[in-house]
Amino acid sequence: MRMAIIGAGGLGLSALKGLLELKVNLSNEIVIFDFDRVEESNIHRQIFYTINDLGKSKIQVLKERFSSVENLRFFEMKLNDENVENLKCFNLILLCVDNAETRFIVNDFCVKNKIPFIEAGVEGFIGTVFIYVPEETACYRCFHPVKPLKKEKPGIITFTNVLAGFYQAKEAFNFLNGKSKLIGKLFHFDLKSNIFEYIKLSKNPKCPVCSVS
Ligand SMILES: [Zn+2]
Repeated sequence: MRMAIIGAGGLGLSALKGLLELKVNLSNEIVIFDFDRVEESNIHRQIFYTINDLGKSKIQVLKERFSSVENLRFFEMKLNDENVENLKCFNLILLCVDNAETRFIVNDFCVKNKIPFIEAGVEGFIGTVFIYVPEETACYRCFHPVKPLKKEKPGIITFTNVLAGFYQAKEAFNFLNGKSKLIGKLFHFDLKSNIFEYIKLSKNPKCPVCSVS
């Protein structure tokens, strides 16, 4: 069993911490992909970086920090249409990014190659998490068929990131144990309005990716 975490920012690091606490790593290999460097604005919400890591490659910092943890691997790579093939060997992917472009690349690849993934998005106090199960659930592009024109503002509130990232880890654990209750739904929360809800997701028959036979 091999699992990939795409993105070592606020979501990805919270998901990693959750997976380690759930001991998912004991029998599974987890591979983390990122290409960024640690910036000052990251420190307060990206739980494994400190002020001493400023300017360093996130992957290098994590490699050193987790050098004694077996089954964790790190790759410095920005995913694109060509190197996304590297995801072919994974059984489950946690999509922890802040941009539509990478979500589209990973979604389209996973639909084509029948790989399940768990996606999270955050902005301000609001977060969403959903799971894609091949040939069973809606894919990301069923409800986001077109890339947004505006660049996304990444969520900068620590506890929104942490909750969504931990939820991804919990869901990965449930899914791998055959106990996912999220299949076919979108978990949506708004911490400011105290809303925690599950919204039913149906496949879009006009989806440009998963409805094409
Ligand atoms: Zn779709």
